[in-house]
Amino acid sequence: MIGKTNLSVGEAQARVLRHVPLGGVEEVPLECSLGRVLAGEVRANRDLPPRDVSAMDGFAVRSADLAGAGAVLTVIEDIRAGDRPQRSVAGGQCARIMTGAPVPSGADAVVRVEDTRALSGDRVEILVPVKAGDDIRLRGETLRNGDVALAAGTEITPGAVGVLAAVKRARVLVRRRPRVAVLSSGDELEALDAPFDPERIPESNGHALMAQVRALGIEPAYLGIARDEPEELAAYLRRGLEHDVLLVSGGSSVGTHDHVRPALEALGVTLHFWCVEMKPGHPVALGTRDERLVFALPGNPVSSMVCFEQFVLPALRAFMGHSRLFRRDVTATLAHAVKHKPGRTEFVRVTLRRGADGGLTASSTGMQSSGNLCSMAQADGLLIVPADCDGLAAGAAARVQLLDGAGFEVASVFAENAP
Ligand code: AMP
Ligand code: MG
Repeated sequence: MIGKTNLSVGEAQARVLRHVPLGGVEEVPLECSLGRVLAGEVRANRDLPPRDVSAMDGFAVRSADLAGAGAVLTVIEDIRAGDRPQRSVAGGQCARIMTGAPVPSGADAVVRVEDTRALSGDRVEILVPVKAGDDIRLRGETLRNGDVALAAGTEITPGAVGVLAAVKRARVLVRRRPRVAVLSSGDELEALDAPFDPERIPESNGHALMAQVRALGIEPAYLGIARDEPEELAAYLRRGLEHDVLLVSGGSSVGTHDHVRPALEALGVTLHFWCVEMKPGHPVALGTRDERLVFALPGNPVSSMVCFEQFVLPALRAFMGHSRLFRRDVTATLAHAVKHKPGRTEFVRVTLRRGADGGLTASSTGMQSSGNLCSMAQADGLLIVPADCDGLAAGAAARVQLLDGAGFEVASVFAENAP
């Protein structure tokens, strides 16, 4: 049996990442690819744009005709996107052209319709000086046939979906998602659909953890509640180990009824750590059996969620082929002092507010007990108090790891020059 491991958060994360396998590859329809990671590079199958085209609705002109403003030209043709120009533009001539339409031979610039004035007959006056190349998008300026449009490992954002459609990929090769099982353990737990009993503790960890998994685009399997009884627990764990990743909460500490770690070891799981110098979340374990990962998470509701954020989230993202594994953090000014005893990295649940100077201010959500699940529901982020720190003063700068939803701003409209 593994001895007590007093790792820092960073050391434990590194150990997790050393043991995460890269998920295999599958093909999915383009419409289902959002958020997935490309397993191979994708190349352009034509030049984009396919020809020199107009960037504006206006007139295709010869810049040599327009050295000064006020030239009058004769319109010889109307060209729309998808048309093939029929005529060449000669001196004193121009063609009416729509955005995306091919520029006819002879023309070397486009003038916006707003910069012209229609005259009688087929004539138009050009009101501005024009240079060669103005408002023309060159053939292949976005992509050349055969270019890498998206590299392997690219996360498929809405922009990438647009590119995939533009290079005609109706099906996309992506990294598969892990199969994740969620198990709760504890005799005291009352299932969501069980009759109300005021003496019992409602099972919340499993549901919060499943929501954290779903937020990463993975549909987990819920295994339910295992009692604190070694054989029953082993049966549940065995089922859980059929998945790529098993999350067990509760029973992972050193209490008389905490059977999770010995039960895992009895099933052939190798434990790589079971204590991390963090608060909340001290008793958290990583185990592996073959390519399967098991996280034994603390029972306390906040601890299990915070440990998910630090260890499970980067593991699941690494499996899916992401290169950005961690939550983004921001620097915020503390609205008040934060007490801290050196030793463990602390994650303080905070709300964030943007101040008049444009900077972010962090305020504690209040009571920071690891049983106070409401603090997780209220938090915009987790303020990181480094292990060696002996407290932070009001007004000090601190790192805040953003939680779901904190990537969005409270504002009524877009402000061009925010302070
Ligand atoms: P344990 O690690 O099993 O000693 O659990 C620590 C605390 O977390 C105890 O107060 C448990 O009742 C509570 N707890 C454990 N599992 C859950 C759960 N699934 N939902 C809510 N609370 C839990
Ligand atoms: Mg328990």
